[in-house]
Order: sequence, then structure tokens, then C-alpha cells
Amino acid sequence: MIDYENLYWLNKPFFEDYKQSFEETLNSGWYVLGKSVSDFENEFASYCHVDHCIGVANGLDALILSLKAFDFPKNKEVLVPSNTYIATILAILHAGLKPVLVEPDIRTYNIDPDKIEEKITKDTVAIMVVHLYGKCCEMDRIMKLAAAHNLKVVEDCAQAHGATQHGKIVGSFGDFGAFSFYPTKNLGALGDAGAITTTSDELTEKVRALRNYGSRIKYINDYIGYNSRLDEVQAGFLSKKLKRLDEINAHKRRLANAYLELLSDRVTKPVVEEGYFDVYHIFNIRTPKRDQLKEYLMEQGIKTEIHYPIPPHQQKGLAGVFEGSFPISEEIHATTLSLPISFFHTEEDMAQIAEAINTFAQLHL
Ligand SMILES: *Cc1c(COP(=O)(O)O)cnc(C)c1O
Repeated sequence: MIDYENLYWLNKPFFEDYKQSFEETLNSGWYVLGKSVSDFENEFASYCHVDHCIGVANGLDALILSLKAFDFPKNKEVLVPSNTYIATILAILHAGLKPVLVEPDIRTYNIDPDKIEEKITKDTVAIMVVHLYGKCCEMDRIMKLAAAHNLKVVEDCAQAHGATQHGKIVGSFGDFGAFSFYPTKNLGALGDAGAITTTSDELTEKVRALRNYGSRIKYINDYIGYNSRLDEVQAGFLSKKLKRLDEINAHKRRLANAYLELLSDRVTKPVVEEGYFDVYHIFNIRTPKRDQLKEYLMEQGIKTEIHYPIPPHQQKGLAGVFEGSFPISEEIHATTLSLPISFFHTEEDMAQIAEAINTFAQLHL
């Protein structure tokens, strides 16, 4: 049996580090917003080549607090890719704003810069880009568009820790980078955790207050804030794992290269483009016989996932939020299949999986 993901085996190489970190936090006697959080914030800011990092409770909150920091008037419009994970859209709604869907580029699965301008109205205030599956968006073009139309840019970096375009790292392009450290992400904690990156001193102060009851000085509340603090114990674990994030990404890139080399061209593979350093949070292939292939692989003892089975505009909870049709997004959701690509997988696993897929492809595709 080849698991799609296994959090025990993923984290096993870090157990000794985690135990040491836990012991330190335990003995410190300081369990909320202490030294582990501020140390991790400094380390992660430096990793992302930005001046500031603010630890928060999870990725969704990182997105919400980023938007709240701008104080946009209610119901202003935020552009967001139509095939993103639902969190990006929920953040816009929770911030009292209106999500406007932009279709992705079918080659990269990221927001299509050619389709951004047609969605801009007098009410548009921001673009929320999502570096989906671990691939950086076309940020050179997007930042120019945003500047031309005076839009703020928030990057959803939850799937792309360490990915770059032309050597520039995600989380350092926009006004804010929003990160999730959910256990399965490339940089994952042992529970919920998140962070925001930015180079603005002013926005940093605002977000630092927002995550802590809107308070800069104890018992003095300047904003309608939240309780969304990065947990001290998780921050300690994250510092340990961050030291090996490049190793994790390198491993996933090695596995991806094995897939790219071995897999039949009868399935659609991720594009590899010059100037992009992809970190493969997810390695997806596409085929019209996706459901049949998934079942076949399961019979061969290979577990796979679908990211994602239902596009946001067809989710029950978002009924009535969107108008129009999103055929590219629907095409992706109907055909995409995510293959195992975790830190504990080996190139031998990739060979076995590729062989099974190629056998299926020969028979059915
Ligand atoms: C995981 C994820 C999030 C949300 O992160 P949480 O920490 O689970 O709140 C947001 N956006 C994307 C694209 C994600 O993959």
C-alpha cells in the first residue's frame, strides 16, 4: 500500500527536534506570544526575504487579517481565481467584501493574467492570487496590472512555501503573503498555525494588533480585533522544521522529476517553465477518465486525492454568491488527480505509481 499522505512518517525525521523544542517551551513557563513565536517570526521573515512576519492561528485567519488591515469599505470587490481552495473565498466574505472569480490558465492552474482586466470595475480594491499546487503565479505581470489599477495584492501562499518566479520568493511580491502551516503543507506544524509576511511597517503594526484583540498595549484596544495568535508550542516545532524546508522542497522536486520523466504523455502533466521554481505541494495529472483511474490505482494499493472535487461556485454554502459560468475551473475539477508526493515517499514509489498509471493509460486512454 502506498499512502497519499502519512503524517507520522512525514514527521518522524523531526521527532527528536520536536521533543527538544517542546521541552524548552514547557520549561520556559511562557505559553502565549513568547520567545518561540518571535523567533519563528524572525526566521520566517528572513526565509521569505521580507522585513516582517506576524504569526497567526491558521491560514484562513492569515487571509482574513490581511484583508481587514486595509479597512476597505464594505462590499468592495476582490478578484480571486475560480479554482482556488474555498478558504481564499471565505476570507473575502468574512472580511465583508465581495469575491469576483477570475478563471485560471488551464496550463498552470493559476489565475490567468489575461483575464484579470476584464473583471476590474470601479469597486475593485484588491487581487488575491493563489500559488496553487506549489507553483508561483505570473507575479511580474500581475504586479504591473495591480499597480496600473491601484489594487492591493494579497498572496495566498498556503501551498507554496519557498516557490519562486525569476528568483523572487512567494510572500515577497504583494502587500501581504498569507501562509498556512496546516500539517500537510510543505512547512507543516503538528496542528493549526499560520503567518503573514509583509514589508510594510504600518501594516505590520495593524496586523499585530488585529491578531491580539486589536490591542498594541495591554488593555488598550484600538481596533475590533480577534484572538488569532500563533501557538507558542507550534512555533517551536515550525522553527525546527523551517531549517529543513529547502530539503523537503528539494525532495518533492526530485519526486516530481521522476514522475515527469516516467509518466505517459497520455495524461496531462504539470507544466515546467523556465524561471519558475515549483515546490509541488500537490503533483496533479489530468485525464477525462479520472474517476476510473483513481479506482484502478486504489485496486493496485495506491491512494490518491482530488484537489478539488467541487469548484467553489458550485458549493452549496456559496449558493447565490457568484454569477456567470466558469468552464475552465469545471474542467479542472472534473479531470484532476493528485498523486502521492510526500517527504517520506521514494523514487521507487514514483516508479511503481507511474508504471500502474501507464498500464491504465495503455488500456483506456
Ligand atoms: C490550506 C489552505 C488554506 C487554509 O489554511 P488553514 O491553515 O487550513 O486555514 C488557504 N488557502 C489554500 C490555497 C490552502 O491550500
